[in-house]
Amino acid sequence: MTGGKDGLDRIAGVLVPVSLVSDPVAFGGERLDDCLVGDLVLQEGRAVRLEPATEQAARVVLPRLTEPHVHLDKCHSVHRLENVGGNLKAAIKAQNADMKGWTEMDVRSRAGRGISELLASGCGAVRTHVDWSDDDDPSVEPLAWAVLHELGEDSDLLLECAALIDIGALADSGHARGYARAIAHRNGVLGAFVFDQPERDEGLRNVFREAERLGLKLDFHVDEGLEPGLDGLERIADAALAVGFGGSILCGHACSLANCAESDVARIADKLAEAGIAITVLPQTNLYLQDRGQGTPDRRGLTRLHELRGRGVTVALGADNVRDAFCPVGRHDPRHVLSLAVVAAHLDPPLGDHLPLITTAARRGMGLPQLTVDGSAVEDLLICDAGDTSDLITGAELRSLSEKRSLTR
Ligand SMILES: [Zn+2]
Repeated sequence: MTGGKDGLDRIAGVLVPVSLVSDPVAFGGERLDDCLVGDLVLQEGRAVRLEPATEQAARVVLPRLTEPHVHLDKCHSVHRLENVGGNLKAAIKAQNADMKGWTEMDVRSRAGRGISELLASGCGAVRTHVDWSDDDDPSVEPLAWAVLHELGEDSDLLLECAALIDIGALADSGHARGYARAIAHRNGVLGAFVFDQPERDEGLRNVFREAERLGLKLDFHVDEGLEPGLDGLERIADAALAVGFGGSILCGHACSLANCAESDVARIADKLAEAGIAITVLPQTNLYLQDRGQGTPDRRGLTRLHELRGRGVTVALGADNVRDAFCPVGRHDPRHVLSLAVVAAHLDPPLGDHLPLITTAARRGMGLPQLTVDGSAVEDLLICDAGDTSDLITGAELRSLSEKRSLTR
C-alpha cells in the first residue's frame, strides 16, 4: 500500500470480482472477465474506487468471507467416536452418545480450534448451530451454548449461535415459549430440526409466534434426506407467508427437493422467494450422509441450487460438519466448500459469479447488513495473491487488507 500526494492510499494492480461490488459503474476500473481491474484507492480507511492500473493486476481484493452454517459444538470429535459411517440417523445416534461426555474444557478446546480455523480462512461472520436436547428443561441452556457465546465474545468473529431443537419439542406452546425466552436471553437464533415429525405444523406455528414476539431470527435444518414425502420446506414457507413473518429465515439442506418434479420445485421456490427465505447448500455433509445404501452412491444429496437461484431465492454455501459423526473429514474454509460445490453442483465459470455464495448472499441469508468491496473499511476486506478467481478459490493465501499479514495463527 502506498500513500499518495493527496493523502489517499493506493494499492496498485488489483482485481475486484464484479459480483462483490454494489455499484460497478461508480466504482470504476476496467472489466476483465469476471473482475474489475485497476489501482484500488482507499480514502479514510475505506475502498472508494478503482483508477487505471499502473501495474499488472496480480492481487484480488474481496470482502471477508461469511460462513452461515457450522456445528462448533460437535466439530473435531471424530477420533473418539464409535460407529461412524452410516446415514443421518446413525450419525445423530453416534454424536448423541459422545455428547454425554462433553465437558466445558472439551467443548472449549474443539470449538476454539474451529474458530481459529474460520478466522484463518478469512471469515468475518459465522453462524454455528448448538444442539438443544428435547428432554432439557427449556429454561436451562446447554453447556455448549454458554461456552460458544463466551468464545464468540472473545474472538474477532461476529459469531451467531443458533439453537438446534427438534420441532416436535416445540409443538407444546409452553415449551416453545421457554426455549425462545432462553435463546433470546443471549441474542441467539431460534433453530429447529424439521424432518417427518407428525407434530411439525404445531411446532412451526409456535416457532413463528415466538420469533415474532421476541424478534428472533430463524434457522431450520429441514428435509435432510432423500426419502419420499419430506415436505418441511414448503410447510415452513407456508407458515411464514401465513403470518407475514418479517424477520430473517435461513433453511439448510432441503435435500429432498431433488425428488420433486420441476413444477413442484418452481412452486416451492416461488414461495421461498416471496417469503424471503434463504437456502444454505451443504455439500460436505450431504455428499457423505445421503444416498446410503448398497455399494457406491449415485445421488448427490444436494438441493436444487441452480433452480432456486434461477427463481430469485437467496442461496448460500456452508461447511456444516467438520470431523464429527456427520462427516469424518471437511474443513472450516468457505473457499474449500465453494471448490467442492463447483465440482458437486456444476458451478461453471465465470467462477466470480459464485463468490456471493460465501460472501454477500451468505450475509443476506443470515440477515446481516450488506458487505461489498466498494465502500467497505479495510478491516472488512481481504487481499489474495491471485491472478484470477479460479486462483483465488482454489487456495492462494489470503491476508487481511488492514494488517497486510497472513491470517494463519
Ligand atoms: Zn447442520
